[in-house]
Amino acid sequence: MRCRHCAVPLAHTFLDLGFAPPSNAYLTMEDLKRPEKYYPLRVLVCDRCWLVQTEDYAQAGELFSPLYAYFSSTSIGWLKHAEKYVTDMTAQLGLSGDSFVIEVASNDGYLLKNFVGAGIPCLGIEPTASTAAAAEALGVPVLREFFGETLARRLAAEGKRADLIAGNNVYAHVPDINDFTRGLKAVLKPQGTITLEFPHVMRLIEKCQFDTVYHEHFSYLSLAVVDRLFRAADLRIWNVEELPTHGGSLRVFGCHSDDARADSPAVAALIDVEKSFGLLDMAVYSSFQQRADRVKNDFVAFLIEQKRQGKCVVAYGAAAKGNTLLNYGGIKPDLISAVFDAAPAKQGKYLPGSHIPIVAPAGLTVRRPDVVVILPWNIAEEVMAQNSHARDWGGKFLTAVPEIKLV
Ligand SMILES: [Zn+2]
Repeated sequence: MRCRHCAVPLAHTFLDLGFAPPSNAYLTMEDLKRPEKYYPLRVLVCDRCWLVQTEDYAQAGELFSPLYAYFSSTSIGWLKHAEKYVTDMTAQLGLSGDSFVIEVASNDGYLLKNFVGAGIPCLGIEPTASTAAAAEALGVPVLREFFGETLARRLAAEGKRADLIAGNNVYAHVPDINDFTRGLKAVLKPQGTITLEFPHVMRLIEKCQFDTVYHEHFSYLSLAVVDRLFRAADLRIWNVEELPTHGGSLRVFGCHSDDARADSPAVAALIDVEKSFGLLDMAVYSSFQQRADRVKNDFVAFLIEQKRQGKCVVAYGAAAKGNTLLNYGGIKPDLISAVFDAAPAKQGKYLPGSHIPIVAPAGLTVRRPDVVVILPWNIAEEVMAQNSHARDWGGKFLTAVPEIKLV
């Protein structure tokens, strides 16, 4: 396989999680009678441009079933994050009724509805029909297509270049990241601004968040690499902010390379931090597998010990993160008897690979578990607040990454 950015052959493995089914392939009871498809889940790193990337595999297209699409609006914390972003950007960039905002991967309209409310024209780009329909119901115009250079050029030709292009948690999920970046360039107005948010690979490594690796997550990004990707598309990163979302994300601010605005010192400063951390050195990548294995082994040992003691352990959150951890650990319903999740579309189904049944949160009071493992640790506070009654019978909450923590 060649690097998706610079095309040199890839020779270094960052993380090998063996084989796993697609993280969103939730199963029905009928599906449990059939064989299940597993795909290799391996992440490589380029020793020339340092792009950390998921290995290509056969039949990639089969993986992306939109049936169980994630609806951004189900997380209250994320809604607040989006609302604040819109207020901040509107003030900073002086957006008005004459401006035009594009959001790539606009999901269910969780963000753009704030621009609609403020009377600022906008357009969402979202290929997943179910979430696009939810956005349209909120009055958000949506183009149901995949974003890339071809679409961007078409929009530009129609006079639809943007003052602001937003992309939250999409950049790491696009297979052809060069084409996507050229698309940003093509549809950006001369003085326009791009903001992209993505999990920071430096935090992934630091906090051993190996469970954020799954097939649909193609790239694991640093500022240094995104800076390189932008330069290659004749764009420039002029500012960066560190965010607490998803265990530690970056929000980069981009513009055309010939834009007059000055670079914030934050950009060079963070690239220096990344260099000191070792992101431009193979050692930090080649030692990661061992660290991930330790977290997984500790978690499995904990579950076995609970089983021996006759304790009831359940999980909360049927999310991609959870599936990676459970499948890498080979964990089945004998160790975690159920996973609770608030999404009605998932209830009554089974997690891919582990086949743990998905149950509505109301069932917690029936089962009265001793331990609730919160799989999406990034929303642990929210989950604990919504299910605090589990403490009434002495139930404890637990997160497993980067180490077992009872809370
Ligand atoms: Zn490369």
